[in-house]
Amino acid sequence: MSSSVTPKKVIIVGAGAFGLSTALYLQRYQRGKVDVLLLEAGSFPCIDSASGNDTSRAIRLDYADPFYSRLAQETIRAWKTDPVFMPHYRGSGRLGAQPPGHTNVEKCKDVLIRSGVDVEDFGDEDKVAMLQRKWPLLGNKEKLQGWDFYFTKSGGWANPREAVISAMEEYRSLGGKLIDDAQKGRVVDNILEANQIRGVKTADGQSHWADHVIYTTGAFSTLNKKLIPNLGTQIQPIGFATAHWKLEDAEELKAWEGYPVVDIYHNGYFFPPDPTTGLMKLGLGIVGFTHDEVPTSSWEDQSDVGIALRNTDLVGTNDAGKIPAIAEEGIRWVLRRWAPSLADKEFFDMKMCWDAMTPDGGWLIDHHPDIRGLSVATGGSGHGFKFLPAVGKFIAATLGVAPEDSIVSEVGQLPSLDEMRSKWRWGRPANVNVKDRKVVLQGRPILNVMHHLRAQTPGQINDMVRCRL
Ligand SMILES: Cc1cc2nc3c(=O)[nH]c(=O)nc-3n(C[C@H](O)[C@H](O)[C@H](O)COP(=O)(O)OP(=O)(O)OC[C@H]3O[C@@H](n4cnc5c(N)ncnc54)[C@H](O)[C@@H]3O)c2cc1C
Repeated sequence: MSSSVTPKKVIIVGAGAFGLSTALYLQRYQRGKVDVLLLEAGSFPCIDSASGNDTSRAIRLDYADPFYSRLAQETIRAWKTDPVFMPHYRGSGRLGAQPPGHTNVEKCKDVLIRSGVDVEDFGDEDKVAMLQRKWPLLGNKEKLQGWDFYFTKSGGWANPREAVISAMEEYRSLGGKLIDDAQKGRVVDNILEANQIRGVKTADGQSHWADHVIYTTGAFSTLNKKLIPNLGTQIQPIGFATAHWKLEDAEELKAWEGYPVVDIYHNGYFFPPDPTTGLMKLGLGIVGFTHDEVPTSSWEDQSDVGIALRNTDLVGTNDAGKIPAIAEEGIRWVLRRWAPSLADKEFFDMKMCWDAMTPDGGWLIDHHPDIRGLSVATGGSGHGFKFLPAVGKFIAATLGVAPEDSIVSEVGQLPSLDEMRSKWRWGRPANVNVKDRKVVLQGRPILNVMHHLRAQTPGQINDMVRCRL
């Protein structure tokens, strides 16, 4: 007699780092018990996705919060050992930097040292001079007076587009199902029976039935308010501007060999050249952008949660493939301080990249309080990509789609499932009824993207830097 059990049907909506990682984990380790369908609103990797729409993402252990540092330890092991991810990881090491008056460097160093990770600091005297002895092309001595730094060899960066393609190939090769299409893959409604979800409807009118639906829709989670009701202020879509340039000259490329990723606290992320393409990038952290349902031109009016603006919706318009002039000005402003020889390079592939930011900076992974069978796993908050190789395991266990004992660490001590559930829970007081959305950027300004794209008014970057809390 057969003792087969019907697998639980799970629909995952959104094939970014959170959704794809969960689908891959379930397909690798829970096949037969869970039947997964991954739905994605654009051709994979979608140009809207924070996870697949770029060339570089920092991979780090350094967190001021030991909880995320412990998760990152597990993740970096996977970047270094899992054949799906290994080829896309570059162990350049990482420089952490902060302007005077902050404590992030001390906190990160402390967490690293307590985890047994070697940390190099830059002495007590002239830290910029020390920095330049190690990496002569980094830092403008005059403009970085008073800054503090540390360096760790642990960490580096990865090519997100290549990594998600590799993860998707693995998922598909294991029989994983994907529908990636603007009509057939875009979820437009929930199928509900009283307060129980039975499945979802896609834009082509098809119904897809499931026992459990997990929304991993990132910054787009506030776009269609029917899908995840009562999210309120827990998720705030913020766009960050990035620009690329290329080192064409072999001598110049050679001169930049061995440079680390630089986390320039609240100013941006600087990536060393990709040794094969010579591509470099800076992601701007001085300001964020949003799009309001009721447009407002003032960056001081911060009342609405806002929505993310899809690149796919902009394709074919004058606004496609652009960043506001103030963002380009900001990127050059940071480069002038950090890598003066690059500040006047010709930029290309400038774009906005959207992520779901939470007011407390933590993820949101929980069951919906009012609809049974509906869950969310989002809130990457500007640091979610590095967890691509491992976050699916945490999501599946937290939401009860994988057994509780699947949270076993390969390297150190992972937080317990109770800690994860508490940290990521829906309705955390810090995230609800947040009146001032600048909280999600710790006081940095959030500008209306369409207003700034159309007005294209540079010349305000110094005001933006000054207005921080
Ligand atoms: C500029 C920038 C720099 C960053 N730098 C780093 C870094 O250096 N290191 C790091 O670790 N993290 C970084 N992050 C954060 C990281 O990229 C994100 O936290 C992470 O990629 C978010 O993954 P996600 O799966 O939640 O969202 P996404 O990757 O955005 O995926 C969501 C997916 O859902 C799909 N979707 C939305 N609505 C629907 C629907 N109705 N139906 C079907 N599909 C839908 C979207 O098309 C999209 O593909 C950065 C983010 C940005 C924006």
